[in-house]
Amino acid sequence: MSALMAVQRLGRIPAAFFLALSLVNSFVFSAVDRLGTWPAALPEGLLALDIVDKIQVDPNTTARFSTDFGGLSQAAPAAVLYPSSPDDIATLVRFAYSSSPSSFSIAAHGHGHSIRGQALVPGGVVVDMASLGRGRSDRINVSSDWYVDAGGEQLWIDVLRETLEHGLSPRSWTDYLYLTVGGTLSNAGISGQAFRHGPQISNVYELDVITGKGDTITCSREENSDLFYGVLGGLGQFGIITRARIALEPAPQRVRWLRLFYTDFSSFTGDQELLVSMTEKVFDYVEGQLLTEKDVGNSSFFSDNDTEKIKMLAAEYGGIYFVEGGVYYGPATASMVDRKLESLLKRLSFVPGFAFTKDVAYISFLNRVQEEETHSTAPEDVLHPWLNMFVPKSRIRDFEMGVFKGILKKNNPIGLVLIYPFNYNKWDDKMSAAIPDEEVFYTIGLLPSATVDDWKYLDSQNDEILRFCHQEGIDFKQYLPHYTTQTDWKNHFGLKWDAFVQLKRRYDPQALLSPGQRIFTSSP
Ligand code: FAD
Repeated sequence: MSALMAVQRLGRIPAAFFLALSLVNSFVFSAVDRLGTWPAALPEGLLALDIVDKIQVDPNTTARFSTDFGGLSQAAPAAVLYPSSPDDIATLVRFAYSSSPSSFSIAAHGHGHSIRGQALVPGGVVVDMASLGRGRSDRINVSSDWYVDAGGEQLWIDVLRETLEHGLSPRSWTDYLYLTVGGTLSNAGISGQAFRHGPQISNVYELDVITGKGDTITCSREENSDLFYGVLGGLGQFGIITRARIALEPAPQRVRWLRLFYTDFSSFTGDQELLVSMTEKVFDYVEGQLLTEKDVGNSSFFSDNDTEKIKMLAAEYGGIYFVEGGVYYGPATASMVDRKLESLLKRLSFVPGFAFTKDVAYISFLNRVQEEETHSTAPEDVLHPWLNMFVPKSRIRDFEMGVFKGILKKNNPIGLVLIYPFNYNKWDDKMSAAIPDEEVFYTIGLLPSATVDDWKYLDSQNDEILRFCHQEGIDFKQYLPHYTTQTDWKNHFGLKWDAFVQLKRRYDPQALLSPGQRIFTSSP
């Protein structure tokens, strides 16, 4: 079209159009004024969206979303969206999806408690999920039908507090409650209740999800089930969870909290396996830890006398284990707790005289990590090169010999080491979370704190552990996995990989979501 024709055509366009155009322009320019320099990585069309006043691009803001709890990865986003409703997120994703080939990546930022940059989005847009719930009291709704609808941004501690108001509680937890509903459901959400109830993902009825195309879809086992199963344990790859309907049970009032010590790994795991296999309901929570002499003394659970006693035991054996149990009760069941425990403890093989108990309110028990250790305020210079694994029961002795008695022995003290079993049948194999194919498998959490000087050493130790497992043919899975090649991801998901890729094609075909997981670097 010639310039003259263009002008003639323009001449036929009503003046109102130019007025509207100039309004849009002035809006765009005022947004640019407010935002400062617009990042080259993002299309300017974003400035014309009605969410523009909820976007920040200044370096102070983006710097806050450039790392995570692990402190090992750094990557700045180009912008941060502070949504006030799920629709704001959908608007952003729809725009990114329609901007191809200039689309940009997007990651939901829950509470940033990832370890390896999983919630980072270099050069893209971070969605600060917390702002969905800021100043609002309608994002957690408890139903008398024993479920709670919780926003994906909600912290589990807030879900707990709200449900307790109704005498109810979720059944399955994480050890630490300052994590978001969407963040843990994207992984699995595990703690000592999972042997009975499965991980948190096994306790969800329904989800609202904004897909990588910007569609908002409600899904459940009956409706859009492929998305439901895919998102649970799906590492944020198929959509952003904005609401989860979570199963509840009547809340107990108190917990008898026990720690039983072992000097021998087989007795320790034997008792754990007995406890998680019992059909009679005695323990409601079962976990366990490895302790070296230097690691004893970090817990307010024990009196000074008991701490000394335990230290001596650890010094004598070079490393000891304890089973951590919890028995829930309320006024109606209080009288039975001692009787039930007494007969059960007789069947266990802990070191005589090394059973310690405490009686606490249910909320204090669930919130024990925060009450004891205040993780969330960890100074920035503390790094966390953590390794979490699922190891099949059939190889746990080999793992003990090679890792606890081998690789870790060189590095005493080793920090927090969690060891406890799950029942496979409490997980739903249709969900994305990858687990070993064995009836009982253990979670192993190596959770040290490090300085900038020693994290690399601990990280190379993690590599050594993974190498050892590969060499010995231990069919483990990483929990909170981090891999950098698609071959590794393929191995991680195993038989689930093809379905995972199909779901990505269907729900996030441009691979816009959660790039920090490093599973898809381009369209699948
Ligand atoms: P983020 O780190 O913000 O995000 C994690 C991933 O999920 C990212 O890929 C992100 O894009 C995606 N994501 C976040 N929100 C959403 C959403 N709404 N929809 C879709 N995707 C989303 N895990 C356990 O299972 N059990 C434990 O006991 C446990 N204890 C922990 C204790 C501490 C101190 C820490 C630091 C971590 C612990 N974790 C535990 C791990 C934790 O569950 C995961 O790191 C989880 O992802 C953190 O949640 P977050 O809300 O901080 O998510």
